[in-house]
Amino acid sequence: MKDALTGLDRYEVFLEKLERECETLGDDRIAITYTDIKHFKYINDTYGYQVGDALLKEFVEVITRNNETLLCAARVYSDNFVTANRMGDYTDQEYRDIIFRLNQEWEAEFREKYLNSRLQFCTGISIIDKGNRNLDAETAVSNANLARKVAKELENDCCVLFNRGMMEGIKREVEITSYIPKAIANQEFKVYYQPKIETDTLRLMGAEALVRWQKPDGTFVYPDEFIPFIERSGQIVDVDYYVYRQTFQFLADRLKAGKKVVPISLNVSRVHLNKMQILEYVRDLFEEFKIPFQLIEFELTESIYLDNTEKALELVDGLHKMGTKVSMDDFGSGYSSLNLLSRLPIDIIKLDKVFLKDDHLQESDKIIISCVIDMAKRLQITSLCEGVETKEQSGYLSQIGCEIQQGYYFSRPIPQEEFERFIDENLQERETVCAGQ
Ligand code: C2E
Ligand code: CA
Ligand code: CA
Repeated sequence: MKDALTGLDRYEVFLEKLERECETLGDDRIAITYTDIKHFKYINDTYGYQVGDALLKEFVEVITRNNETLLCAARVYSDNFVTANRMGDYTDQEYRDIIFRLNQEWEAEFREKYLNSRLQFCTGISIIDKGNRNLDAETAVSNANLARKVAKELENDCCVLFNRGMMEGIKREVEITSYIPKAIANQEFKVYYQPKIETDTLRLMGAEALVRWQKPDGTFVYPDEFIPFIERSGQIVDVDYYVYRQTFQFLADRLKAGKKVVPISLNVSRVHLNKMQILEYVRDLFEEFKIPFQLIEFELTESIYLDNTEKALELVDGLHKMGTKVSMDDFGSGYSSLNLLSRLPIDIIKLDKVFLKDDHLQESDKIIISCVIDMAKRLQITSLCEGVETKEQSGYLSQIGCEIQQGYYFSRPIPQEEFERFIDENLQERETVCAGQ
């Protein structure tokens, strides 16, 4: 039984063949590769399904050609492929390096043909040897698939060997995602605020809302630890909405009490772009809390704009129509596209903390930061630098005209009560920033 499109074995047949191979394994080892084509959707969307199908056939051609060690291969679904190969004398690492090099060669071949596609082959490898030959074929493939998922998350490594530690990661992921609804109901999420400082006056001019998860035993789970998991499960949407609601409530309460306020920026996860219900949710919040639109801003990461420019533009447009500002977050952390900066209607650019990675600024970093700030100015985009930790960094940013600064040098993200004191102390003689405009 064959897969109609590619002519490869059906996945069930692949598993049967693999089990038979394991029975007669002897001293040899079998490497299972599980490969997925990153950005394949772009091909279907841009060139059409026929071209997408042709690409899959070509991919099968490259993975099977001249491969004398190949035992069997199958398409699991869509653009996910598995192969089983005899490893011969190669060590695990050597085998990984071979696949890594092949993936790079194939990528170059395909990218030349499908221009602008950023195609990438991500492979996970699991190995069957004498020690674990009793593992059933499906588990061996699922281990390779797990390694493939790890490979897909990495920027620069498209090829990863399975290890037991990955199972721990999955356990943690399941533990976290299954606990989230309870954490929301228990109000375990807290919103912290990190002040933003105006360079010219060194006064508080805004803040960013950052989520913190404090477990009932008092310990914190930091965003970098749980956000990637809940982005995959889609639960980030609920957590974001929770943060938005708390922030609106905070601002509305202060305004009602006649206290000073500053605009607060909210992070937007890439997951919102799938359903685009965020605009409606935010509109309802403005309706409910009746706070001025200028008091809320949104941060979209540079990578969101790059991965899904059309949807990102639609979202920015919707937010602008509502009257809120939008920033490009983490600029410089990935493939920075200066071209993108000039094409997108964003109001603020947030330079990522990677530019300030050393306490003492390198000459080359200085050049890049000052060029980006200069360009932003010419495009009439406000510039903000994140991760400012030292006086020297802050002084340099002031010298080159970066308008806003955020970082530990001024304040860490702080709980609401502390932020309230921060506002009261910093804006003593000053009018409420933006309120009532
Ligand atoms: P981000 O949006 O880039 O947020 C800035 C991160 O840099 C924060 O980490 C902040 O604590 C940290 N930071 C600020 N100043 C400094 C500094 O001077 N030095 C250094 N080394 N770090 C600094 P945090 O709070 O751990 O958040 C990590 C990421 O998690 C955020 O990166 C953001 O992408 C995401 N995140 C946090 N809260 C939310 C949320 O409510 N919704 C969504 N969608 N994402 C969130
Ligand atoms: Ca942010
Ligand atoms: Ca950032």
